[in-house]
Amino acid sequence: MLTDSFGRSHTYLRISLTELCNLRCTYCMPAEGIQLSPKSHIMSADEVFTIAKTFVDLGVTKIRLTGGEPFVRKDVDLILKKLATLPVEIAITSNAVTINRFIELLKTCKIKNLNISLDSLIEEKFKLITRRNDFNKVMTNIHLLITEGFNVKINVVLIKNFNDNEIIDFINFTKDLPINIRFIEFMPFDGNRWNRAKMVALDDILKQAENNFDTSEIIRLKDTPNDTSKNYKIKDYKGSFAIISSVTNPFCDSCNRLRLTANGRIKNCLFSASESDLLTALRVGKDITPIIKKAVLAKYKIRGGMDTQDKLESPDLHTNNRSMIAIGG
Ligand code: SAM
Ligand code: SF4
Repeated sequence: MLTDSFGRSHTYLRISLTELCNLRCTYCMPAEGIQLSPKSHIMSADEVFTIAKTFVDLGVTKIRLTGGEPFVRKDVDLILKKLATLPVEIAITSNAVTINRFIELLKTCKIKNLNISLDSLIEEKFKLITRRNDFNKVMTNIHLLITEGFNVKINVVLIKNFNDNEIIDFINFTKDLPINIRFIEFMPFDGNRWNRAKMVALDDILKQAENNFDTSEIIRLKDTPNDTSKNYKIKDYKGSFAIISSVTNPFCDSCNRLRLTANGRIKNCLFSASESDLLTALRVGKDITPIIKKAVLAKYKIRGGMDTQDKLESPDLHTNNRSMIAIGG
């Protein structure tokens, strides 16, 4: 078991398959792009499998594939088919721009749970935030995934005075669709021009819901263990909504997550500036298990050591971290 010094056991691994993306979301990457790892430093399909298997042998029961955009990797089919042979639940986070091409592959690999990013229901705003013109593809693909029977959650990063006036529209999107809308607090990473004033906090979201719906209609749902979100639904709506408040209400106490970057480094926390290189060790034939265990033991209690709001808000500290696109959100 991968248990850290605070007694938290780590059963959930998020693997970033690539630093590349077909969108350019402003909150995820700087306009000028990021310094990409050389291609030879990115894990091959076999290396992804070998490292993932080591984690599964150490007790990991769930793997989420993310990026960058996982579906831009040319060998994504090979990776999924290999990972599907492991005794582990696989989920994917995607922007859904090209996911229609992979429906059969997902079914073959028994992948049911998909988190899709969509930050606006308005085409022009989608274009502003993603710096690309793929709104219609994404909307069509979300409907396709629902029709094909996948469990779809929609990730919405809220930014003040940009899309916070769409909170109720997003909640109403759950009226006839069996989806879960997840409002995510905007988090600080290198190059994303974060500041607290741009963030829409848990309380603001609930206040908007309470102003629009009768409080008796807003039902608080039971959260699952290790859930990072607080879940709600509107009475008689088919879907539900949730709030992920990593900034104002961190869920570090029950954290069971580890991350593997596309260049094969383990990050023990999304906010951690330090990483341990598994890929180089694997390539020279070293046993990576002790490196993984050491990284888990070094995990801080709260947000990679940014245990106060002041530390989290310090630009010096978050510029030590990567941009989200190179972490794998
Ligand atoms: N390309 C895929 C996608 O967009 O879903 C997967 C990778 S993306 C980095 C994973 C998730 O991280 C997305 O839901 C995105 O909205 C979220 N994300 C990126 N930057 C963020 C930030 N600064 N604050 C909060 N969430 C962020
Ligand atoms: Fe790409 Fe996802 Fe980042 Fe947007 S949030 S730039 S889709 S990796």
